[in-house]
Amino acid sequence: MARSGRFGHRLDLWGWVLTLALALLPCLAAAAAPNQPRHETVTVQLKWFHQFQFAGFYAAIEQGYYRAAGLDVRLVAGGPDIDPAAAVAEGRADFGVGTSALIIDRDAGRDLVAVAAIFQHSPFVLAARRVPGIDGPRDLVGRRLMVESHSAELFAYLHAAGVRADQITLVPHSGNVQALREGTVDAMTAYTTTEPYDLIEGRIPYQIMNPRQYGIDFYGDTLFTSGRLAREKPELVRAFRDATIAGWRYALEHSGAVIDLIQERYQADIPRLKLEFEAEEIRRLMIAEVVDIGYMSAARWRVIGRGFVAAGLMPQSPPLDGFLFEVDTGPDERIMQATIAVAGLVILAVSLIAHRFYRLNRTLEREIQSRRRLEAELWTLASTDELTGIANRRHFIDRAAEAFAAARRDGSALALVMIDLDYFKSINDTLGHAGGDWVLRATAEALIWELRPTDLAGRLGGEEFGVIMPGLSEIDAAAAAERLRQRLTLIRPPFPGGERLAISASIGLAHAGPDDQGIYALLARGDQALYAAKAQGRNRVVDWSAVAS
Ligand code: GH3
Ligand code: MG
Ligand code: MG
Repeated sequence: MARSGRFGHRLDLWGWVLTLALALLPCLAAAAAPNQPRHETVTVQLKWFHQFQFAGFYAAIEQGYYRAAGLDVRLVAGGPDIDPAAAVAEGRADFGVGTSALIIDRDAGRDLVAVAAIFQHSPFVLAARRVPGIDGPRDLVGRRLMVESHSAELFAYLHAAGVRADQITLVPHSGNVQALREGTVDAMTAYTTTEPYDLIEGRIPYQIMNPRQYGIDFYGDTLFTSGRLAREKPELVRAFRDATIAGWRYALEHSGAVIDLIQERYQADIPRLKLEFEAEEIRRLMIAEVVDIGYMSAARWRVIGRGFVAAGLMPQSPPLDGFLFEVDTGPDERIMQATIAVAGLVILAVSLIAHRFYRLNRTLEREIQSRRRLEAELWTLASTDELTGIANRRHFIDRAAEAFAAARRDGSALALVMIDLDYFKSINDTLGHAGGDWVLRATAEALIWELRPTDLAGRLGGEEFGVIMPGLSEIDAAAAAERLRQRLTLIRPPFPGGERLAISASIGLAHAGPDDQGIYALLARGDQALYAAKAQGRNRVVDWSAVAS
């Protein structure tokens, strides 16, 4: 009895140990893997179809940046009818990618918070048919414009150009440039990052109307969330923002790999060249070399707000408190407004006095104006190349000489780019003279499109063009010249046989130096570099310094 009793007691003990161990097992397992917190699911409503526009998100998923931050991210593609602000405000998504019109949504009562400005400049423009009678935004009055949701900033642009929304017939956006070819619309809202590629590929004659022409320079794609999430889970918003920014940094550094990823996982039907074109343009909108990715300033948001107010799209510039996630909104809005009011009164007083003088001078002024206009017209005629509309040889050299003198005076850099189209005789032979002329016009247009406002392009004669780029270092000028070269290879003439033609140009690059005798010495060096580019096989950029040494 005693034995069995002892034995039974022991069994009992082991039973207890076993039960205890089983009960503790889940805790033990959890203790063994303390670095695996449960992942929070986060839904992101994108603004458009999958493309390089969202490269940072794809990269952050692929590189595990979100996972490392405890986030399980689901991306939802957008489109012309998708309104990311509505999706986030109504709780269907946690984050959204939208435009700077976010500030209007917020003013209208949607509880939204801007988290990061991904594009420092907006890619939003109007693409219009190239037909007689359409030369600028004013010519859209009485015509049909295809608009996507959240095009407010383009209405601010139209407003600045003196066009009211009710003067234009607005048509829903199809997301496709074909409408411009078919002429079912005269213009459409477009992204500089994609539509120019489609238009060139589709050989649709087009022109771009850019809001920056009127000084409208808003943030582009902006990451935002709901006010609720920002208040209740700021650490989640911060983690998502930081992982997204890291994703963008990766995407800019490894754009080739991310393009592969987009084609494999997200959107197989976009040609690689198109994604490369988009990546290149996005790089220019993000200017990540100069501005930290995602950076936002309260001052810039105020300017954007005022732009929308001026265009009548918002009643008044709203206070920014609580609108910007972890961004200092600066001094109290009321103090700012009081200061502005006082300044306004001073300006009013001064203007009243000025107005008296103005009236006295007006008659005289009018006469001078009309003479100036006449002179300007004559001058424009005398200085423009008839075929392409850019500066002619004489005007180009005059302006280049001025830029040269200015660069010497300030000791700043000045680059000259000389461009000669390759095998242009055979282009003329294939397309006929009119086709050749079309290529010359497309070349001029591509140059204008690629250049900064401070650059000057001219047609030097035949199929030879020149570009003056003030203030560019040798490295930046080389990059700009290379970009021009690549851009020219995208030209596809819409004529029989045009599809077989490879359009390209040879490019010579020269830089003004302290020992230059004058502009002609610089032009001569540009020419030598250009001849070297031809001799080395064409379709390339050659820097004069490489020829001389
Ligand atoms: P490469 O420069 O690669 O050496 O060959 P290329 O065939 O371009 O040679 P070149 O510069 O000698 O030929 C220029 C041709 O451009 C000759 C001329 O018929 C043509 N051309 C010049 N002006 C015009 C113009 O206004 N319109 C058209 N369609 N053709 C022009
Ligand atoms: Mg030539
Ligand atoms: Mg040539």
